[in-house]
Amino acid sequence: MTVTDDTLTALAATLPQGCLVTDPDLLASYSQDWARDPDAATPCAVARPTTTEDVQAVMRWATEHRVPVIPRGAGSGLSGGATAVSGSVVISTERMRRIEVDPATRIAVVEPGLLNAEVKAAATEHELWYPPDPSSFEICSIGGNVATNAGGLCCVKYGVTTDYVLALRVVLADGTAVRLGGPRLKDVAGLSLTKLFVGSEGTLGVVTEATLRLIPAQPPSSTLVASFASVQSAADSVLAITRTLRPSMLEFMDRASIGAVEDAMRMGLDRTVEAMLIARSDAPGAIAAEEIAVMADACAANGASEVFTTDDPDEGEAFAAARRYVFHAVEKLGSLLLEDVCVPLSKLPALVEGIAAISRERGVIVAVVAHAGDGNTHPLIVFDPEDAEMTERAHLVFGEIMDLTISLGGTITGEHGVGRLKKAWLPNQVGPDVMELTQRIKNALDPLGILNPGAVL
Ligand SMILES: Cc1cc2nc3c(=O)[nH]c(=O)nc-3n(C[C@H](O)[C@H](O)[C@H](O)COP(=O)(O)OP(=O)(O)OC[C@H]3O[C@@H](n4cnc5c(N)ncnc54)[C@H](O)[C@@H]3O)c2cc1C
Repeated sequence: MTVTDDTLTALAATLPQGCLVTDPDLLASYSQDWARDPDAATPCAVARPTTTEDVQAVMRWATEHRVPVIPRGAGSGLSGGATAVSGSVVISTERMRRIEVDPATRIAVVEPGLLNAEVKAAATEHELWYPPDPSSFEICSIGGNVATNAGGLCCVKYGVTTDYVLALRVVLADGTAVRLGGPRLKDVAGLSLTKLFVGSEGTLGVVTEATLRLIPAQPPSSTLVASFASVQSAADSVLAITRTLRPSMLEFMDRASIGAVEDAMRMGLDRTVEAMLIARSDAPGAIAAEEIAVMADACAANGASEVFTTDDPDEGEAFAAARRYVFHAVEKLGSLLLEDVCVPLSKLPALVEGIAAISRERGVIVAVVAHAGDGNTHPLIVFDPEDAEMTERAHLVFGEIMDLTISLGGTITGEHGVGRLKKAWLPNQVGPDVMELTQRIKNALDPLGILNPGAVL
């Protein structure tokens, strides 16, 4: 239904002063995430709650008036999951920022609006560590991380967000608030509902609190950087490494990514090589040096043209920062369609070769950067939105890369979520029975379809 001024006034009356924003200038800034969906609509209001009770009030009102609600964290998503739809209200968790660390149980109870980096910093004060580290860790919220089941660079060894979620407080579509799980390190009572909400992309409920597992602080890392004359050699090296040990980081950059980062950062990276691997070991004591040596041998045996190693944490961090900067660097070349495809590790060489072939055939630049140790690649498709013919080719490439991935037994998204950009390919990956099961779960929890309509399903 159309949201009238009167209905919005009724909502504002149930919320604390200043919670509901209707200023048109501000509303526009809540219409999109980093996927920059051109079809995004401006929401009719943004609620900025500070408590679970505020979120409940918004959801009760939305249920009564059948208003679509878009849950939003920091808006750094890359799949259009937080894209506003016409006539919607956005719930932004930016003001829900409390955190409490319990060092004895090694947990943190966190509200969703806190940034990932702030959770890490709070854990560090107790010599503890919250591992999941999306490249966007300084600009993304924990609520968004939970809702997308975010991954990152160290996940190859330490796992993804879901591996650290012990409990959630969630507000359902009708405004009911439920607690799932608890501050318990083991708990198998009932169905695993906590995990159902991790990665649900705001389609099943609004997360208002997460209890996260922490682990002892990460030891200092040693770093390896290897250059290759072919993408195939780099991909083969990844398999040679993961066959032998589990690095704490194993990242891949192709020639286009290296060139874009070098343009932006002037680090002295070799633009002439076809691929680069950045690997790390955080194993204790002398074992780190041994692991780095094993990885260096694996790269050399697979044709690395140069292998550089360092146990200086700052020097190593400079290479990790370069890897994290790829998205921003490549964005300077044009508009981007960003993929997040992930294949079984043995299929990684076939995937990177296939992406290169698609790029050549369509005449579209596709820079590839990857959490290679997980088989999770981010092909960045570069295009000029003013050029209609090139834009069409870029969208064809976007689909062909997902088709290729599915044919290799992979997934259309390893960490960013399906959102709105990839949902057309989901049925091809999971099949009709799983789509129907997913829809039944959605209908049971959100019978009116008001939570993030158009995302995932
Ligand atoms: C430069 C860059 C690098 C990135 N690198 C990585 C990476 O390495 N790994 C990775 O996984 N991601 C990465 N991302 C993507 C993005 O940062 C993650 O998806 C992140 O988890 C989104 O968090 P957010 O707070 O910005 O969420 P938003 O973009 O606001 O929302 C994301 C989704 O979560 C839902 N949502 C948000 N908060 C809640 C809540 N409280 N309850 C219910 N649903 C909610 C939204 O509806 C939406 O569907 C990167 C993004 C950028 C811009």
